[in-house]
This record gives sequence, C-alpha cells and structure tokens, in this order.
Amino acid sequence: MVRKPSKSEVECPPIKVGILALQGSFALHKKSLAKLGISTLFIRRPEELDQVAGLIIPGGESTVMSDLAREYDLDQKIVQKAKAGMPIFGTCAGAILLGKGEEAPPRLELSSLTVQRNAYGRQRESFDAPVQLTFSPEPFHGIFIRAPRIVPNEQSKSAIEGWYQEDLVLTQQDKILLSTFHPELTEDLRVHEHFIEMVRASLAQEKDPSMQNSNSRIKQSSKKLTL
Ligand code: GLN
Repeated sequence: MVRKPSKSEVECPPIKVGILALQGSFALHKKSLAKLGISTLFIRRPEELDQVAGLIIPGGESTVMSDLAREYDLDQKIVQKAKAGMPIFGTCAGAILLGKGEEAPPRLELSSLTVQRNAYGRQRESFDAPVQLTFSPEPFHGIFIRAPRIVPNEQSKSAIEGWYQEDLVLTQQDKILLSTFHPELTEDLRVHEHFIEMVRASLAQEKDPSMQNSNSRIKQSSKKLTL
C-alpha cells in the first residue's frame, strides 16, 4: 500500500541541495544542511545539477575552483541553471565566483554586484566579527577568512541581509545569495535556513507561478541596499 504523505511532508516536501565539491569547505556545508534535515549531493559533474533544487558554492580558493569548474564544464551549466531559476548561495570564494570583478578569476556574473577579492588586506587576513542579520535579531558570529568585500550598488536591486559595520556581508539579489563570511564554520544554522527558505520559495513559485516571486521579498526587506 502506498503511504499517504504526512501534513508536514505535503507542506514541506523533501528537497535536495547541491554543494559544489571541487575544492574548499564543501563538507562542512553538508554537515550544516544535514542538521536542518536537508539531503545534499556533492556536485562534480554538470548532469548532477539536474538532480538538485538549489546549489551552494563554498569558500576556498576562487581561482582553483574557477579553473576546475571550467575543466569539468560546470561553469556554463551553473549559469544555465541559475537563469532557469535555481537559487544559488555563494560563500566567500563562492561569492567571488557569483559576482562581478575585474581581477581574476573569471566570474559567472550571476549577481551584478562587484565582489573584490582579499579586500581586507594581509594584516587582517582572518577575523571574527558580529554580523547583524535582517531576518533575525541576534548577531551572527561571522568568520571572515581572507574575505572579499561586496561593493554597494543601489542599481543592483539587492537586499542587504547581513552587515558588519559599514560592510555588506550577506546580500540577496533575486535568487542569488552572497556571503563574505563562513556560516558553515559555526554551529549557527540561521543563514543556511534562510537559503533553504529561498529554495522552498522557488519551488513553490515553480509550481504556482502566481505566487509572490523572490523579488517581492526584496521589496519587503527591512534594509535597502545603500551606499
Ligand atoms: N581569498 C580567497 C579567494 O580569493 C577566498 C577566501 C575564502 O573563501 N575564505 O579565493
């Protein structure tokens, strides 16, 4: 006999999220998502992206990750999936790849925000700082490792979801989430949870296109992107 799905399964059907696993801290993202009960797939081939509802591009070394992504024909497939509406979360090196920038590596430019590599300079290669989130009152322990900086740009219609002093450290532009810190290095799951909400909203929207799209979320965001 076929089991009837429970109410919670109907409301929140299981989803699978891909984690680009070419280099960097992909294993820790899997751990964070497992704690949220989300199953994951390490992505190393383009066709694996067809099996997931969202993608995390981890921190690591953006030049190495970019070279490997090109070698395995993953770069174009990621762009194709994003354009077809897949939510993508890039942390640190992942944010560098998703954004724009003049310097190497070549960027996927799925966000129109410029992300400057190693922007905090050598002497502050790594630091911890409290990050204020728009979607949760308690500060998040932000771990910044040779972190990039997101260049503010009002035209980009991005929502600031997290900031540290004057810096934007978590932004959402449509279905692209960028963080310059490493939420997977903490036990705090709020940022991953936020991304999973984006993935669920995207799936719900696919099913019923009359539903609010994620741009409306941006309009409701409590903090607008400012200079
Ligand atoms: N500075 C690294 C780069 O440019 C990113 C560092 C990180 O992901 N923690 O790729």
